[in-house]
Amino acid sequence: MGTIAERLKIALKTIEQSACEANRPANSVKLLAVTKTKPVSDIVQAYEAGHRLFGENYVQEGVDKIQQLKALNDIEWHFIGPLQSNKTRPVAENFDWVHSIDRLKIAQRLNDQRSAHKRLNICIQVNIDNEASKAGASLSEVESLAAHISKLPNLTLRGLMTIPKVQEDLNLQRQSLLAMSKCFAQLQTKYPQIDTLSMGMSSDMPLAIECGSTMVRVGSAIFGARQ
Ligand SMILES: *Cc1c(COP(=O)(O)O)cnc(C)c1O
Repeated sequence: MGTIAERLKIALKTIEQSACEANRPANSVKLLAVTKTKPVSDIVQAYEAGHRLFGENYVQEGVDKIQQLKALNDIEWHFIGPLQSNKTRPVAENFDWVHSIDRLKIAQRLNDQRSAHKRLNICIQVNIDNEASKAGASLSEVESLAAHISKLPNLTLRGLMTIPKVQEDLNLQRQSLLAMSKCFAQLQTKYPQIDTLSMGMSSDMPLAIECGSTMVRVGSAIFGARQ
């Protein structure tokens, strides 16, 4: 399957090609390398290949890795997993971004626990296909959540995140992704700082980019299958 550096290069090439096919600038889509369950040495390999954006799903695992890699101080750390209210403090103190905000209470706690020196970047997670097994606000809740979050002084609302239902019928999946894109465009008219639509993973990157994603979160395509 090649080295991490080689697979990273392939992922970046796929992003560039997908953007090009969608008539979008190649640099309009960022790659978040998702390293959950993978060792710190994998992160170092990607870092040495030039990568700087990393995503983690579990609080303790993520914070441990951030502490171990403190010397690599230009890494941008994104928390993308479910977040319970009793675990917000280490996230507020260690991460740069949180993609998985689906209720105000969690945003409020992160705001209270974040140092005022550097704002925490926030995406609202949307459960676009209303799946019982997935976290996320419903589309109808986004406007009110955004209004409240954008008033919190230690947070910056940057956009939306989703994990769509994997559908055999690509057109059905496309409909969900396009509904996200529409909601994102509406939010942007209200909040000028909003620039991030976090959508697309190893299996659906090109489709997500076709539908307007600005950040794809890719794990297994770069680091291999997880246990
Ligand atoms: C694990 C994970 C990813 C990466 O998934 P792959 O299929 O390995 O690319 C992306 N987003 C979230 C929220 C994840 O939990």
